[in-house]
Amino acid sequence: MPDSKFDVIVIGAGITGLTAAKHAAQSGLATASIEALLFGGLVININELDGEPHGSGTDLASNLMVEVSELGVENISETVTALARDGNSLSVTTDAGRHRARAVIIASGAQLKRLGIPGEAEFEHKGVSQCADCDGPMYQGEDVVVVGGGDSALQEALVLSGFCKRVHLMHRGTQFRARRHLVDAVAARNNIQPVWNTVAEEVLGAQMVNRVRVRNVVDGATTEIPCTGLFAYIGLEPRCEFAPPEIRRDANGCLMTDASLQTAMTGVYAAGAVRAGYGGLLTHAIAEGNAAAKAVSARLGS
Ligand code: NAP
Repeated sequence: MPDSKFDVIVIGAGITGLTAAKHAAQSGLATASIEALLFGGLVININELDGEPHGSGTDLASNLMVEVSELGVENISETVTALARDGNSLSVTTDAGRHRARAVIIASGAQLKRLGIPGEAEFEHKGVSQCADCDGPMYQGEDVVVVGGGDSALQEALVLSGFCKRVHLMHRGTQFRARRHLVDAVAARNNIQPVWNTVAEEVLGAQMVNRVRVRNVVDGATTEIPCTGLFAYIGLEPRCEFAPPEIRRDANGCLMTDASLQTAMTGVYAAGAVRAGYGGLLTHAIAEGNAAAKAVSARLGS
């Protein structure tokens, strides 16, 4: 069982975590980065980033990963299961062992929420997807349903509109909450059809998805939309099951911090999508990763 000691352990190797690890290492701190999945986080699935920085999510993440590795950060591919105080150190338990550090930055990010309706799990990878850039080309000339009214739903509907005959953009309300430029871009695409006041109730098909049963929330009418794909972008849920209860959560389960990004557990910081109050843009992810590393560096006196 490994039992290593670092100045700082960064949990999560998405953009926030990689940025934090990079700045911590640049400050001369012995840094480890622990990630269970592929590095890069949610942006890895985005071919063309919206806003700053430009380019593809994969390139952004890969470049950061190279920098982090060249700075000597130890990349550990394990799943974090617990975080606790251990004397003067912090102990990070994983599926493979235990690592100790003087400070921890939780940058474990978030995952896309699921609708939780019948057929969603059954048709996963058979028409149900949450990656427009990866799977969009498979829906060339077909009809798909996108659920949600935020930045993610509109951004991904725009990607899908480049492949599909029609994108039914289904929202439970009457107004998208996405940023203006995305709302305008969607309005300018004549193959994106908003479906207002409507929720998905069941994904239906045989071997593959062939329709979605939907309900109008105003009059209760139930109809079916013929389609071969369903993409739900209804928000994010934080990935922080390992964090102890002394780190308080907000109503969405995101970790609460003070202005320096420190949680109620001394020496443990949280940054990015896992943190309550996170702004949601890539620029915020980078700024928070940077700020958390600076706060740790100041704390440890490096
Ligand atoms: P979001 O902003 O939380 O929006 C979720 C959408 O899904 C809302 O329109 C919500 O409806 C709807 N919704 C929630 N639960 C639902 C349910 N059970 N059934 C049907 N609809 C449901 O989530 P997001 O779009 O994933 O964005 C998350 C964060 O990432 C935001 O801060 C966003 O700005 C950021 N983001 C940024 C970019 C970018 O920089 N380009 C891209 C994507 C996301 P209501 O509106 O009625 O609540």
